[in-house]
Amino acid sequence: GLIGQLRPSQNLTRLAKYSRDLYASLEEETGVATGLKLTGSITVALTDHRWEEIRRQATLARIFDVEAEVVTPDEVKALYPHLTTDDVLGGVHLPGDGQCDPANIAMALAKGARMHGAKVLEGVKVTGVDDDGTRVTGVRYEDAGEAGRIAADVVINCGGMWGRDLAASSGVTLPLHACEHFYLITEPIDGLTSLPSLRVPDECAYYKEDAGKMMLGAFEPRAKPWGMGGIPEDFEFDSLPEDFEHFEPILADAMHRMPMFETAGVHTFFNGPESFTPDDRYYLGEAPELRGYWIAAGYNSIGIVSSGGAGMALAQWIDSGEPPFDLWDVDIRRAQPFQKNRRYLKERVSETLGLLYADHYPYRQPETARGVRRSPIHEHLKARGAVFGELSGWERPNWFAQGSQVAEYQYDWAGQNWFDNQRAEHMAVREGVALFDMSSFGKIRVEGRDATTFLQRMCGNDIDVETGRLVYTQMLNERGGIECDLTVTRLSETVYLLVVPAATTRRDLAWLKRHVGEAFVVITDATVAEAVLCLMGPGSRDLLGKVSP
Ligand SMILES: Cc1cc2nc3c(=O)[nH]c(=O)nc-3n(C[C@H](O)[C@H](O)[C@H](O)COP(=O)(O)OP(=O)(O)OC[C@H]3O[C@@H](n4cnc5c(N)ncnc54)[C@H](O)[C@@H]3O)c2cc1C
Repeated sequence: GLIGQLRPSQNLTRLAKYSRDLYASLEEETGVATGLKLTGSITVALTDHRWEEIRRQATLARIFDVEAEVVTPDEVKALYPHLTTDDVLGGVHLPGDGQCDPANIAMALAKGARMHGAKVLEGVKVTGVDDDGTRVTGVRYEDAGEAGRIAADVVINCGGMWGRDLAASSGVTLPLHACEHFYLITEPIDGLTSLPSLRVPDECAYYKEDAGKMMLGAFEPRAKPWGMGGIPEDFEFDSLPEDFEHFEPILADAMHRMPMFETAGVHTFFNGPESFTPDDRYYLGEAPELRGYWIAAGYNSIGIVSSGGAGMALAQWIDSGEPPFDLWDVDIRRAQPFQKNRRYLKERVSETLGLLYADHYPYRQPETARGVRRSPIHEHLKARGAVFGELSGWERPNWFAQGSQVAEYQYDWAGQNWFDNQRAEHMAVREGVALFDMSSFGKIRVEGRDATTFLQRMCGNDIDVETGRLVYTQMLNERGGIECDLTVTRLSETVYLLVVPAATTRRDLAWLKRHVGEAFVVITDATVAEAVLCLMGPGSRDLLGKVSP
């Protein structure tokens, strides 16, 4: 029940803050206590790199309107007397953070919903979601052996780690995988009074005082994925066997960090699974495959602090058709169909759990489950020193190592090992000529009798140009906001090729299909069928002249 307000972006922080404020007011509204205690939180740094990171986080917190103070080791000690601070470089204190009782929050939310007319049915299994080919029409269920159906044009899959397989039964992509998550609770410790929650990310540990006992939880660098073959139906409220060997390094560090762990008895050693996603961000929004099929799942161990805000945002999104503010960070439309692959998910989530407490360097690339989508010239680029980054599963050449330089990222906060390479590449394009491999970009063919009128309606710019010409444009929503940034190439009287960003291809396809109406057009995702090479720079015309007749 840790309630940490600061999240990686302003809008996700807004949602976390909304949750905290909601949990503070729910008791008055519903009469059910949520156990929210604003104990504050402290994160301490043991390395120079972490010290840099958490001070940057403090700056970010202030920008996001979260109260934050940078504290010295002595101030950390004053706030948290039980902590060994000899090797602590400093900390960041967020006085407005807190902790709560998750079960009571669920009860309070359910009661509040009932008070406003909602009906809550427990112990009922959803067996499937019906649709008419384009949008949902209802939910099938089983209640004490009896089958039933509820007609509905909006269904929200908030099935946690079971959600992936339920979504798959409707052809919806919901890539998440359970991982084991460990914590330990001591027996009551004499004299232990209320303390801020504490994070020691360099030791992969968090600590929470609760009713005179101490809790120690872990986000270890290599997690243990669980339930690859599917989550047992009756696993709800259950726990997994303990794995002391796995937890032991965390506990060993804890005994030094907080000597009370050397003598305290262990009350509970808990291993409970939670769902993790390939990029450590949860999923909200309407599935691009099926209208009316909404998602709120994949909470990566921050489901309690996120749920109040996520519920508010999703309700507004469903009601008005638009999220209340930019929520692309967590939008389900970023999920790629290949990410349903269980081997990919198992490998990737073994890394993403630990990334919660890893150093969050700029430009940091995932290490696991790489090499999924490659351009046809991948090996040629690699042979020339390309160092790849991953986007939506695509391996993209981010920079080229020169001479004896090691072809890999060496992360830092001060500056990156590839800045000089990037400058040289930039100048080459600016003053000479360069070839870009843009094969990862989404390619969408729009063709048919009404292709021109349809795209004229969808795009801000005039796309009714001569065959062979290319137009840079945007697709806009009703408020004039940008839904897609793209180029439209006219291939013939009735055929157009749209080139869209790799990360938004599914979103863009869904946007086009949603608005096609009665237009006589066929929309095809041709991304994997075509490579894209772009020749750029003042020397491009000369070079092309030499190599083509
Ligand atoms: C050990 C541990 C510590 C954690 N600590 C924190 C913390 O300090 N702070 C924090 O913010 N988060 C924390 N979390 C994470 C948080 O608990 C989860 O993110 C959150 O509970 C996920 O909520 P959910 O509703 O998405 O999924 P769940 O809570 O798993 O709920 C999904 C529900 O859907 C039901 N369901 C699934 N399929 C069907 C079906 N076909 N029909 C009917 N019902 C179905 C399931 O029975 C279940 O009740 C922790 C998690 C763990 C495991």
